[in-house]
Amino acid sequence: MARKEEPLQMRIGEAKQRDVGKKRARIGPEAMDFLKVTPGDIIEVMGSRTSCAVVWPVDEDEKFPDIIRIDGQTRKNVGGSLNDFVKIRKVTSKFAKTVSLTPVNDSVTVDKEFTDFVKNRLKGLPITHGDEISVMILGNSMDFKITKTTPKGVVKIDRSTNLNISTESTVDRKVRVTYEEVGGLRHEVKAMREIVELPLKHPELFTRLGIEPHSGILLYGPPGCGKTLLAKVMASESEANMFSINGPEIMNKYYGETEAKLREIFKEAKDNSPSIIFIDEIDAIAPKREEAYGDVEKRVVAQLLALMDGLTDRGNVIVLGATNRPDSVDPALRRPGRFDREFEISVPNEDGRLEILEIHTRGMPISDDIDLKDLSSELHGYTGADIKSLCREAALKSIRRYLPEIDLETEKIPSEVLQSMQIKLIDFYDAMHE
Ligand code: ADP
Repeated sequence: MARKEEPLQMRIGEAKQRDVGKKRARIGPEAMDFLKVTPGDIIEVMGSRTSCAVVWPVDEDEKFPDIIRIDGQTRKNVGGSLNDFVKIRKVTSKFAKTVSLTPVNDSVTVDKEFTDFVKNRLKGLPITHGDEISVMILGNSMDFKITKTTPKGVVKIDRSTNLNISTESTVDRKVRVTYEEVGGLRHEVKAMREIVELPLKHPELFTRLGIEPHSGILLYGPPGCGKTLLAKVMASESEANMFSINGPEIMNKYYGETEAKLREIFKEAKDNSPSIIFIDEIDAIAPKREEAYGDVEKRVVAQLLALMDGLTDRGNVIVLGATNRPDSVDPALRRPGRFDREFEISVPNEDGRLEILEIHTRGMPISDDIDLKDLSSELHGYTGADIKSLCREAALKSIRRYLPEIDLETEKIPSEVLQSMQIKLIDFYDAMHE
């Protein structure tokens, strides 16, 4: 009997794309035996916070028996990052009599239709007080914080639950983008985690070993392939503050004060460390000498280099530079101690396109005639940004198909129509051939 109570220690792994937003925890058969759970049971997951998830089996090719795969939001709810240890035990959930939710960073008009919609989406998911959960509304995710439940503990919402959604929202300024938002780029993400997340979260490792972490990393590749997205993910998953600089903007808008502005941003980043400074279109700040290199540029480049040299010691500020034209960047920037690691972020291949399609259709009501794998094979040359806009366009096309059924004179679209809406393959084709 005593063993039943004993929690099991596991290591957090990245979730599968298809599990995102579903509160699933994939664990292996040994862990299930130990915890005496089967798929569908609820477990409590304890990191620096405690939350809950639904047990789900791992895929056949899972290599690590001690891994628990949970999505970015669940990781946040349990207060843990990838590779952190958490403790797990079985719990029983009760049905929720009342649940109070507060929107995060979004205000809403709360009426019965909206409340019913949210309730429908959350039905059956285990939740606890303090959790954050997302609800997909027409392809956009809206976040809520659970501010109260009766009874307390792990509860499940069902049809008879009384759901109270607050009209006031809470504000959370931290960037929140998780690894599951990035499609493809597996190798790049893995390598960047080691050189960005590790020193930001555990600078003591580097001090102890007497090595200096990289302070600058250059991301290059065509626009729309995820350079900015990666910077946001790195900041978010390392719980660092992100400071963004746009190359052309800082050169033009702050003309004459560019160096002062750079100093100010670097200082703020240091004062609020751990931080990531993201410099988009860095070629505008530090062009190659042959290319229109006047006194102003010389001074600005010298300033940027001095600021980067001043960062070296601790590793709690990392600069990510992005450019579409790596050959146009001043080589002085690419020397050791400056931007001395580089990653090419290129147009996705078919597997990458499939993952990106899964990400951007997540939460969209997609009809059964769509095989995303087939679709991804037809999108040769599409970047992540192209795929994102294709999904939005397809959704808009589908709305147009339903327009004749909707009486625009009435204020609200009936929920039967909303619930029955689907995006079809033809909508994607229409959007592709526009
Ligand atoms: P870049 O900085 O390389 O120009 P962005 O990161 O700004 O590109 O991409 C724009 C948008 O396109 C992103 O916010 C994201 O929604 C989508 N996107 C681009 N690349 C990817 C990717 N690899 N996975 C998922 N979405 C992507």
